[in-house]
Amino acid sequence: MENSKQMRTWLDDMKLDHPLVIAGPCSAETEEQVLKIAHQLKDTDVNYYRAGIWKPRTRPGMFEGVGALGLKWLQKVKAETGMKTCTEVANAAHVKLALEHDIDLLWIGARSTVSPFIMQEIADALGETDKIVLVKNPVNPDLALWLGGIERLKTAGVKNLGAIHRGFSTYEKTKYRNIPEWQIAIEFQNKFPDLPLINDPSHITGNREMIFDVCQTALDLNFDGLMVETHFDPENAWSDAAQQVTPEKLIQIMRDLKIRKESDPEAEYNSELSNLRAQIDVVDAQLIEMLGKRMKISDGIGGLKKQKNVAVLQSNRWNQILGAMILEGESKGLSEEFVLKMFKAIHQESINHQEKVINS
Ligand code: PEP
Ligand code: MN
Repeated sequence: MENSKQMRTWLDDMKLDHPLVIAGPCSAETEEQVLKIAHQLKDTDVNYYRAGIWKPRTRPGMFEGVGALGLKWLQKVKAETGMKTCTEVANAAHVKLALEHDIDLLWIGARSTVSPFIMQEIADALGETDKIVLVKNPVNPDLALWLGGIERLKTAGVKNLGAIHRGFSTYEKTKYRNIPEWQIAIEFQNKFPDLPLINDPSHITGNREMIFDVCQTALDLNFDGLMVETHFDPENAWSDAAQQVTPEKLIQIMRDLKIRKESDPEAEYNSELSNLRAQIDVVDAQLIEMLGKRMKISDGIGGLKKQKNVAVLQSNRWNQILGAMILEGESKGLSEEFVLKMFKAIHQESINHQEKVINS
């Protein structure tokens, strides 16, 4: 796919006419399972076949992967289907084994990116490899930690780098398994515009029903590819059962996605426009989320005022907020008139919330 990047990367060299697609099961379970899914995915848009063989599970006692044995199965996949292969590596021993078995692409999982020690160990083991290495974002929303991990690999001499955005864990219950925090991915693109960035909707959503929408948002935000967990019997997968899709479903998703190429000027305009619109959608969702949070706090204040039997409207406090927000708004290029209007509306909603609590 043509893109606006300055430097040629391994992805440009692939000369794809669609975004890069990595697919395959969360975990390699048996040789038959690995080969069956691979055969269902060959002759589709899938470029790399994934299967985790060392699985970083949050709690012990769950399926932790088949280990090095699975590397042989991936070699068979390549021999039988011609698809390139990839797996997660989490230490120097994994790297050594994966390289010995000629795995084409290695990725570093979110739980490894958080650790500078592990990243350095993996970087030293990779050295000046020609293999493609993709770094997932760390589990916590820390852009510097993500960039730092990539820098370690770069410094060690890894030539073909990229990144995977798989969302961020949070204590709050949300509709996502790992919230996307698209702003971080957008900032990542600004910091490393020449690095291919792949989206992983499977670990963001944790739910196969939401995969399509997250893929579309990612493409609208100019991501270079998608990594989608795929299994012929998702419900009975040995890990991440809720988020895997069948090969048929994946093919359908790829068919339905609006893929915007950046070749002719009209398409370029549309692509730029949908990128900006996708950014607006991200910010709008955050605005609503924040306003909801603010009103929840107001409910708490309403409860306190009810206990103490004080009036809802506290003019001093309100004037203080307005003054501070007008100044803050000015520094962000917002007119006084707009800030006033907006905060009056917010204040009114807040009063409504408090009155509801007080009169309940
Ligand atoms: C995976 O890709 O199966 C995986 C374990 O992902 P993450 O590191 O994003 O949790
Ligand atoms: Mn998984």
